Amino acid sequence: MRRYGLVHREFLNAKKREKYKLNREVSIDNNRKYRLRLKAKVLKMLGGKCVICGTKDIRILTVNHGSGNGLKHMRNLGSNLRHYDSLKFYRDIATGKIDKRLFDVRCFNHNILYDYERGIRKIPKGMSVNIGDY
Ligand SMILES: [Zn+2]
Repeated sequence: MRRYGLVHREFLNAKKREKYKLNREVSIDNNRKYRLRLKAKVLKMLGGKCVICGTKDIRILTVNHGSGNGLKHMRNLGSNLRHYDSLKFYRDIATGKIDKRLFDVRCFNHNILYDYERGIRKIPKGMSVNIGDY
């Protein structure tokens, strides 16, 4: 066996790399499935569609902090924001660690517009939101 391993080292290494590559892709795929199912669960808990336009497309739906102060809220939870990724955020909502009543569901466009309406995002004074004015 030892001799076989020495003689066929390149072949065996290539086989190992191939197996690793295959498992890595399966693992990444499983992680994506887990994340998407968790996101769907949380979005459903919060109403399941954009509160403005009603889209149910999970690719563009996001959790909106109802007070428009999600960042501050997360800091108050004592979370290290650098490591407070969406997965943990979804888990915390799903498990009730964070009160779901603080959130609603919006598509990304309506989530960004919400930030502008709340003054979290700003356009400089005197500037138009209409691209035709530029
Ligand atoms: Zn929307």
